[in-house]
Amino acid sequence: MPRLSLDALGNPVRLLVIGGSDAGISAALRAREVDRTAQVRVIVADSFPNFSICGLPFYLSGEVPDWHSLAHRTRDEIEAHGIELHLEERAIEIDAAGKQLVTQSRDGQLNHYGYDRIVIATGAAPVKPAIAGLELRNVFVLHTMEECFALSATSQLRWSSNFRH
Ligand SMILES: Cc1cc2nc3c(=O)[nH]c(=O)nc-3n(C[C@H](O)[C@H](O)[C@H](O)COP(=O)(O)OP(=O)(O)OC[C@H]3O[C@@H](n4cnc5c(N)ncnc54)[C@H](O)[C@@H]3O)c2cc1C
Repeated sequence: MPRLSLDALGNPVRLLVIGGSDAGISAALRAREVDRTAQVRVIVADSFPNFSICGLPFYLSGEVPDWHSLAHRTRDEIEAHGIELHLEERAIEIDAAGKQLVTQSRDGQLNHYGYDRIVIATGAAPVKPAIAGLELRNVFVLHTMEECFALSATSQLRWSSNFRH
């Protein structure tokens, strides 16, 4: 059976993946495919692993009525591949020499994970051009599910208020 690596004691390799979108989940799935003994943990800052970010405009337009169908795989399907998912945990520090990752849960709790290999799949951050007003409330970028929900909620408010008047 192929193995990603063996330590001197023959322990399974511990792979840590930061980020649970296209890149992170692909890496995790592939690792488990290559090595069924690998312990694969995926740390995800939000609650939406393996969602189609490309589908967000289609949800906003109503072409995709249910946001759940933007998921390429459900949490259960991912975990059925032997992948351990840690949602709503943000990686905040990597100690590369000591092979330790520190994450922070949404409630502020700090968590420490050891690893043998690490994959950083945290995507990109939107660049906001220097346009006056971009810092105002209700001006959104569209990159995450949460930003999509925030934008969608604002739009519905505007539409319902237009409807009433
Ligand atoms: C609106 C929109 C439409 C798009 N349409 C298309 C398209 O039609 N075709 C196309 O090819 N591409 C499209 N893209 C681009 C495509 O979505 C991205 O290339 C793809 O999502 C990148 O995947 P990724 O895994 O690298 O990063 P992302 O999808 O950005 O995921 C980053 C992951 O990292 C997590 N994360 C970030 N920081 C941390 C941290 N500190 N700790 C833990 N987790 C963290 C996030 O929660 C997320 O799970 C579109 C993008 C957008 C925003």
